[in-house]
Amino acid sequence: MKKLHVCLNEQEADLIGSFMQKEDIPIEIRFKNLQSLRGPVPFVDTDPEIWILNDEDFEKASALLKEFLKPQVDPNLKSWKCPNCGEQIESQYDACWHCGTEIKQEENKNRS
Ligand SMILES: [Zn+2]
Repeated sequence: MKKLHVCLNEQEADLIGSFMQKEDIPIEIRFKNLQSLRGPVPFVDTDPEIWILNDEDFEKASALLKEFLKPQVDPNLKSWKCPNCGEQIESQYDACWHCGTEIKQEENKNRS
């Protein structure tokens, strides 16, 4: 049994928990401060921890977690070309880093 991750809050723990369940990796969510489960204690005191039950799952789980924690980029968005200076801009930006021209991503999506 190995500790995979310390979560920021219970929502994050729940998300990671159901994600790992989907991947068939048995986990346990533990709370660092067990005392806090007994009474009304502020949310922030409970740093939930994700534990991997089977050590052999650990590597797969940490790779998956890395993916999971990466900022999400909409796969429907493609990089776009600045209409003003012709610079190629990554899809997650909605303004040209070169000249500051803004583009509406919705239009961009429909065009491609
Ligand atoms: Zn530009």
